[in-house]
Amino acid sequence: MSISRRHLFERLAGAAAVAVAPRSARAGHAEAVDPAADTASHIIRLHRNESAYGASPKALASIHRAAASAVRYPDRAADDLRARLAAFHRVTPDEIVLGCGSSEVMQMAVDACVGPRKRLVTATPTFPWPAEAARRGGGDVVALPLTREYAHDLDAMRGAVGDAGGLIYICNPNNPTGTLTRRPDVEAFVRALPPATYVLVDEAYHHYVRESSGYRSFIDDRIDDPRVIVVRTFSKAYGLAGLRIGYAVAAPETARALAAQRLADGVNAVAAHAAIAALDDGEHLRASIQRNADDRQEFYNQANARMLKGIDSHANFAMMNTGERALDVVERLGSLGVLVPAPFPRFDNYVRISLGNAFDMRAFWRAWDRAAGNMMM
Ligand code: PLP
Repeated sequence: MSISRRHLFERLAGAAAVAVAPRSARAGHAEAVDPAADTASHIIRLHRNESAYGASPKALASIHRAAASAVRYPDRAADDLRARLAAFHRVTPDEIVLGCGSSEVMQMAVDACVGPRKRLVTATPTFPWPAEAARRGGGDVVALPLTREYAHDLDAMRGAVGDAGGLIYICNPNNPTGTLTRRPDVEAFVRALPPATYVLVDEAYHHYVRESSGYRSFIDDRIDDPRVIVVRTFSKAYGLAGLRIGYAVAAPETARALAAQRLADGVNAVAAHAAIAALDDGEHLRASIQRNADDRQEFYNQANARMLKGIDSHANFAMMNTGERALDVVERLGSLGVLVPAPFPRFDNYVRISLGNAFDMRAFWRAWDRAAGNMMM
């Protein structure tokens, strides 16, 4: 069985920590999904960009209520969620495609748009799943470096897609850099695309972007082009990563082409109910976003105090220059029970750190100072 690069990557990060973590921390807790359980086991999960503040209490309550519907297939719950999302985004339900996480929706886009002579064009580094999905299907993948400002190199990406068309993946904000590709640039890029070329805009970290003149969501402020597919997830700011639910917004004909690739009944009813409740709890979402903004500022304050240079992030994680081989730092942090992912292509000296809650971040900086031999704390 082949292990995906993403999971291999995450396992590496996990393995680095678990192999050397204190015995009390080892008892299989690295994969626990309850942040409180991880806290109890002293494993600090800063490797998967999960929400530090969890799901809305209303979403959690709806999970308990939805358990009663376990006997039924999830068609009705999925239809309800599509209708709710359509109202939320002021589109029609036939413009919404649900998936088992946005990962499944991205897989659908790859399956629909990449094939013989139709390649996937992506950035490096970026979220690796679309490229991995394309390669698994035997598709051709071109990965192009980010610009010096850590934006997608849109001219190069357009040049790399062949005459036969294909799919271009734009992760905005980008994982792992947390950086933005400017809206006017993306608009101009879409206008100049060859006809059979689709664009997959991944807005997984959309909620964390603060007022910024260069950024506007392609869902909240759509452009009238059926080649644009925008994906969002409930795994990040909504704090529902374990339930696996995400969606795309696209023109009806494009949405139909995606839906033709999906797994029948692939969205479970509990996840659909929880997502509806999460959408209804704007207060919890706003509070989580505000806390993340405060955490991000505090992260940079701590980094500055140590003269560490980071990349300016618009997400719930940040990339920091370690000034040395980052893999060594990742392993040392792992040995102290702090999980961060293995370094990303072209960023050998950088670590990506998911922003945890105050407890996690205090533990992170303590471990950092020990790992770096720094005497500041
Ligand atoms: N898109 C980006 C940019 C991500 O970083 C991630 C996960 O880390 C995902 C999508 C996956 O989202 P989901 O949990 O909805 O499959």
